[in-house]
Amino acid sequence: KYIAVFKGVDKKYNMDGYQFTAIKNAECAIPRGEITFVLGPSGSGKSTFLNMLGMLDKPNQGQITILGQDVLAMDDNQAADFRSRHIGFIFQSFNLIPVLSVRENVEFPLLRHNVSRRERREKADYYLESVGLKDYSHRRLGEISGGQRQRVAIARALVTTPELVIADEPTANLDSATSDEIIHLMLEMRSQFNTSFVICTHNEKLIGGSGNVIRIIDGKLQHLGGLQ
Ligand code: ADP
Ligand code: ADP
Repeated sequence: KYIAVFKGVDKKYNMDGYQFTAIKNAECAIPRGEITFVLGPSGSGKSTFLNMLGMLDKPNQGQITILGQDVLAMDDNQAADFRSRHIGFIFQSFNLIPVLSVRENVEFPLLRHNVSRRERREKADYYLESVGLKDYSHRRLGEISGGQRQRVAIARALVTTPELVIADEPTANLDSATSDEIIHLMLEMRSQFNTSFVICTHNEKLIGGSGNVIRIIDGKLQHLGGLQ
């Protein structure tokens, strides 16, 4: 029923000799197969929250369950393996490799999976077409625009068909027609594969009338509609 559950989660950063609490006692249950938006002013803790959800960072206190598994109990290898199988990231500069071609970047996450070369190529081409980059597959990443790189990041996040996709401002650099296509692609993924999306955004239009909303104010989570 839930893709991820947070219980009593605190995240503190060390700043010049004192501890700053960036996330305070976070409690949330993120529904499976739905889109959940994370909103809040700059500096409120959205990235910190997404980093913990994506198993990129650990809390100082509390429990995090993803797909029913206690992810904080995993060692580093188990966590890396779990992450590569179940979680896709659409972060603006996360792990895209400038010297590789567009297609090679999209294929990259599949190298950890047991997938033939031909299947890798087919999957990469399918998602590149979905994000409107069919004709760019041989370009190097350094030879395309920021918006196009964003679309490469999206294709790369979806290529392993992860259960959970975490996106930080996925449409930030895109024109509204491309934003609409990206949203359409996410909705299609959701219905086709029951993918859960957690999206941090300032774009109210993206939210529309649907989806769950978690608002973060000064490190405190508030739920608005949809949840619990
Ligand atoms: P948002 O994504 O909503 O802008 P962040 O999660 O990036 O917020 O940051 C929340 C707060 O924690 C901010 O005050 C930020 O300066 C601080 N912060 C974030 N990451 C670190 C870090 N690695 N070390 C120290 N402080 C941090
Ligand atoms: P966003 O654009 O999502 O709000 P930020 O620009 O606040 O993100 O932060 C980008 C990255 O820098 C995040 O991974 C965050 O953890 C880190 N960060 C933010 N504030 C600080 C800080 N004061 N000290 C160290 N790292 C920080």
